[in-house]
Amino acid sequence: LPCHLDGRWLALDEARVPVLDRGFMFGDGIYEVVPVYRRRLFRFDEHMLRLERSLTAVRIPNPHGRDAWLALMRELVERVAEAGGGDEQLLYLQITRGVTPRVHGMPAGLKPTVFLMSTPHHPPGPEQRHRGASCITHADFRWSRGDIKSTSLLGNVMARQLAMDAGADETILLREMPHGGVTVSEGSSSNVWIVLEGALIGVPPSGHTLAGIRLELLQSLCEETGIACHLRPIGEAELYAADEILISSAGRELLPVTRLDGEPVGHGAGRGKPGPVYARLHEAYEQAKLEQSI
Ligand code: PLP
Repeated sequence: LPCHLDGRWLALDEARVPVLDRGFMFGDGIYEVVPVYRRRLFRFDEHMLRLERSLTAVRIPNPHGRDAWLALMRELVERVAEAGGGDEQLLYLQITRGVTPRVHGMPAGLKPTVFLMSTPHHPPGPEQRHRGASCITHADFRWSRGDIKSTSLLGNVMARQLAMDAGADETILLREMPHGGVTVSEGSSSNVWIVLEGALIGVPPSGHTLAGIRLELLQSLCEETGIACHLRPIGEAELYAADEILISSAGRELLPVTRLDGEPVGHGAGRGKPGPVYARLHEAYEQAKLEQSI
């Protein structure tokens, strides 16, 4: 499939970067993942705002303005679709600081390396949504700038592998608070939500969670569908006592967590099954995909 590297279109397996690229040396780069439905970009402007925030935080100049990114990403979608990559895609874009002899400090005047590719997007189907995700929990051992969508993902990779080792789908990371107590930060590549007494509760943005694009989306879907929604810290005990647990990300959209640390999630007849709040939000999400893609 075609990809884009530093202004050139080429086949993915022919794309090369120098070993001194700081993305390779230090993980010194920023990325985004943008879902595409029916060849249209879902919540494009929200992704561009987060990209700008991440780049600013690490002092990499944004190589393109909003309209140039839009044109480039639309061209990628069309090229990939024409090459047989399908109409549902996940666009990956990465900007690294550039190529330079290996020094820690940030050399001035580098030309960022800009890379875009597309992979087929297979959101969870009916069977997976019915089965739900199985999660484990683990102490959050990552840095405190999780608000930056950095390509330095070793902590997230290690966290996800713990789930794989346990035969689970995702690891929910828990953090000791400086003044006592334990709260949920996020999944290894997802945000975490719980349902308590009919209300959806999500984790507010901080250095310990990425501000997922689905954070604002789910808040507005809740408003539309009349579900109460708050962002506030989620205590460990609340996670285990929740009526429902959900995870959200660009690739997995919204998924119910039906097992936590090997135990079924929820209470009564709904134990271990996707819950009613999930079902309503899933429907609203499907509608949003059609209405909020450009
Ligand atoms: N948290 C982490 C660590 C992630 O990697 C992701 C990305 O998928 C998310 C949260 C969810 O963010 P988004 O909804 O923008 O995909």
